[in-house]
Formats: sequence, C-alpha cells, structure tokens
Amino acid sequence: MPAKTGQEYMERLKRAKSSVYIHGEKVEDVTVHPAFRNVVRSMAALYDRQYEKPEKMLYRSPTTGQLVGMTFIQPTTIDELIARREATQEWARMSAGMMGRSPDYLNAEVMAMGVANDLFAEDDPMFAENAKNYYEYARENDISLTHTLIHPQMNRAKALHEQNDADVPLHLVERRKDGIIVSGIRLLATQGGITDEILVFPSTVKKSTAGEDPYALAFAIPNNTPGVKFICREAFDYGRSAWDHPLASRFEEGDAIVSFENVFVPWERVFVCGNSSICNRTFRETNAVIHMSHQVVAKNIVKTEFLLGVTLCLIEAIGIGEFQHVKDKGAEIMLVLETMKSHLYRAEHNAKRDRWGTMTPDFAALDAARNWYPRIYPRLSEIIRILGASGLMAIPTEADFHNEEIGEIVSRAMQGATVDGYERVQLFRLAWDLTMSAFGARQTHYEYYFFGDPVRMGMAYFDGYEKEPYKQFVREFLRGAKSVFIPADNKH
Ligand SMILES: Cc1cc2nc3c(=O)[nH]c(=O)nc-3n(C[C@H](O)[C@H](O)[C@H](O)COP(=O)(O)OP(=O)(O)OC[C@H]3O[C@@H](n4cnc5c(N)ncnc54)[C@H](O)[C@@H]3O)c2cc1C
Repeated sequence: MPAKTGQEYMERLKRAKSSVYIHGEKVEDVTVHPAFRNVVRSMAALYDRQYEKPEKMLYRSPTTGQLVGMTFIQPTTIDELIARREATQEWARMSAGMMGRSPDYLNAEVMAMGVANDLFAEDDPMFAENAKNYYEYARENDISLTHTLIHPQMNRAKALHEQNDADVPLHLVERRKDGIIVSGIRLLATQGGITDEILVFPSTVKKSTAGEDPYALAFAIPNNTPGVKFICREAFDYGRSAWDHPLASRFEEGDAIVSFENVFVPWERVFVCGNSSICNRTFRETNAVIHMSHQVVAKNIVKTEFLLGVTLCLIEAIGIGEFQHVKDKGAEIMLVLETMKSHLYRAEHNAKRDRWGTMTPDFAALDAARNWYPRIYPRLSEIIRILGASGLMAIPTEADFHNEEIGEIVSRAMQGATVDGYERVQLFRLAWDLTMSAFGARQTHYEYYFFGDPVRMGMAYFDGYEKEPYKQFVREFLRGAKSVFIPADNKH
C-alpha cells in the first residue's frame, strides 16, 4: 500500500473506534470530537503534504516498489540522510514545530529498531524478526504511532516491584502459546488516541534486576486492541478560532495515560519480553536514539526559527528594537538557532554507515544538542514573555474588534509602531499562545521533558563523556609550567 492521504488517516481513526476518554466521557469519534478534531485535521494535512510534494516526501519502497513515506527511509548515504531531514523540516514548518509527535519522530525509531534488530535476538531470534517485520509493516501501511515509555509516578524512590501496589505499572501477566497477556498503566502518550497504533517501549533508565524483568516489555499493538484505554488530559483546544488561539486551535496534540487490562499481544508483535537488560540497551544499541535525535534537532531548528520570527515581529510592532537589552535578548535566540544549525551540520556531514549499513549521524553533535535544547528552551519562551510585557495580557479577542461599542476603542488602543491594533493583537495572541497559554506552557514543559529527564540525561552525558584528554591536557600544562619556571630574583 502506498503512503496514506489525510482522508485515509481520518477514515482509519473513524473505523478503529479506539477506547478514548476525555473530560469524564468516552469519545465516539475522535475525528469530530471538539478536543481532537482540529489536531486530527492538522495531522491529515501532514499526510496530504506527502502527495503535494512527492519528490520531497516519498520514496520507492525497497520491498514493494510502492511510494512510501520518506521519513521511514533507512538512509544509506548522506544525501538520503539529508533528504529524510528535509522531509522532517517540511512537516515541522506546517506546525511551526509545535507538533512533537508528527509521524516522523516514531518512524525514525521504528526504522532504526527494525534494521538494527539483532539485540532483540539475544532472547529469541523471533524477536529480531518481529522488529524487522514491524518496520516493513509500518512503512508499507504508513502506520501512525504514539508511544509510552514510562511508568506512573508512584514512588520513584522504589523499584517497580517494590511499589505498594506493584500491579499498577504495566507488567507481564502471562506467557501463552500464541502471545502474552499484559496489564497495568503506562505514560504518557502524546497523541494517544489519534494514531493507528501504540509502541510500548522501555525507558532506558530502568534498573536491570530480576525483580524488574516482568516490567521489561517492548511491543506494538493497534490502539483499538481490546483492553486498551486512552485516558486523555483535558484539552487545551477550547474550540476558539485560529485568530484567538492560533496554535492551540490547530496543534493541541493531547497527552494520555494508557491503561492495559489483560491485553493480549500476539508473539509477532513482541520485541522484548521480560528482559530488563535488553530493554535498557534498546535505544542505544539499535542507534534509535541517534535517528530520533536527528529528527528532534531538525524539528527544533524550525521551531527556533519560528520563535525568532515571532520575537522580531513583536520587537518591531512596539518599537523596542533600539533598546540594548532587547537586541541582546534577540541575539540570544539567534545564537541558539545558529548553534543548533551547526550541531545538525556536523551531525550530518560526519555521518558514517553503521554495521547495518544505515548512514548514521554523528551522535556527539546530536547528543550535545538534545541535552542542551531542553535547558535553553524555557529561556527562549521567557525572552518572548519579557519583551511582550503587558502586551501579552492586553489581548482582546477578535470579537472585541467587531463589537459596535468597543471595536473602535480597542483598534485605537492596541495600535503599534508599525501595525494597526487588529494586526498587533493578532501577533501578540500568537506570542501568548506560544509561551503563556495552557498550550504555550505545555510546549515549554514538553521541550524540557519529552526526551527524558534533563537532569538524569545530563548525569549520563557527564558519565559517558570522554574526559581523559582534557585532564591530560591540564596535567601536561602543569608539568610544562614547572620546567619553564624561573624563580624570582629578589635582588632586582
Ligand atoms: C508534555 C509531555 C509529553 C510527553 N510525551 C511523552 C510520550 O509521548 N511518550 C512517553 O513515553 N513519554 C512522554 N513524556 C514523558 C517523559 O518521557 C517524562 O516526563 C520524562 O522521561 C521524565 O520522567 P517523569 O515524568 O516520570 O519524571 P520523574 O522520573 O517522576 O521525575 C520527577 C522529578 O524527580 C527527579 N528524579 C526522579 N528520579 C530521579 C533520579 N533517579 N535521579 C535524579 N532525579 C530524579 C527528576 O529530576 C524530576 O525533577 C512526556 C512528558 C511531557 C511533560
């Protein structure tokens, strides 16, 4: 089957009738429910773009010859790696980088694990075969995916099997001839309920012990598998217009708790079963973390371009561009953008083929970027807040401009240095939705956490960093300093 269109994406969601809950109610059809219908249309637009720009977004499947999504490609040359990144950035521009779960993120994961699958064979060759087949199935059917990596925050000081109610985290209930039965809870599925399938993969920071093994699972199942429920947080799309809520009205992906009640997973969909050591090595040893980081850095360059654009328009709109600290804050965003671009350039131009033949970006560059951006993103949001000041709260709605009694007042009151009141408020509502609305606050939270806890990632980064050359540099410097030292002559 060739890559899907937006219409096909929506029809599949309609047909699937997955168990999705929000605001205390079960959702009959996510394609029309007010909490989901707009983001579903934004997702559909991504799939349609595949056919609007086929030369950029599609390639020929190596197995069927069909045109399939470029973001599923196993790149074997630097040109293919760049082509995949350009497809990612094409999609990212459509949401200004606001959709963290545009399909390319998990397409990269599925590709990497499907190709570098021998790790899964450590327990049983069947698991490696399953990973390979799943990649091909996802690519040929253009499967949209969400994923859940983490367990609920019950008591983080204890291992999973030591929790008061150790059956809450997702765990293995039974191994059967035809598959496994699993039960429990996983977090936090961004776009949970509006994709075809869910990947259940392990976080890389689980402890490897026999007690943890029942929680060490990796599999992929359709969202409408019996016993699976998506319990979504309240929606930040309040049904307002794209003028009033320019981002939340289109790109509110949602985040869901996923409940599994005696869910049957056939063996052909299982990649890891009860082996915490394999789970902990999955992202690293399949290079999935590298390909996912490549997508993230590419997407975040587009996002930073958008933040910079909003900042510059805001500066111009209220005539603050000549103030020294304003220039300095604009420069901060520019420096982030240029630094991220340099990371990406180095990652792609130092790429090497790995032992599975996949052209793999230089992880040193991507690892630095993926550890740094979560720390710097809150600052970018803060800069817009500082520069916007009262303008981010003096934000009448579009209806106020059309009101007979106050329309004239707000138009005059809200005028800027270079724009009229209507245009200025539209821009400032965008800046507010980007940084301060429920949607904007979630963006900051998302960028900080979605790839893992930056504190623990930073600890792992420190531990894994090649430190010896730098210590050696200083030791040699100190030794050299001793040999050239001439004692002070007190007589002169
Ligand atoms: C908006 C958003 C969307 C997300 N989307 C997804 C998704 O689609 N799929 C998915 O699987 N996950 C998703 N996540 C989850 C994300 O992976 C986690 O938030 C992240 O890994 C941190 O884990 P946690 O939330 O359980 O925090 P916790 O581990 O509970 O940490 C809470 C606090 O305690 C500290 N802490 C806890 N344990 C330790 C320790 N051992 N050492 C030092 N400090 C510690 C942390 O630093 C942190 O400050 C999303 C998260 C957010 C916020």
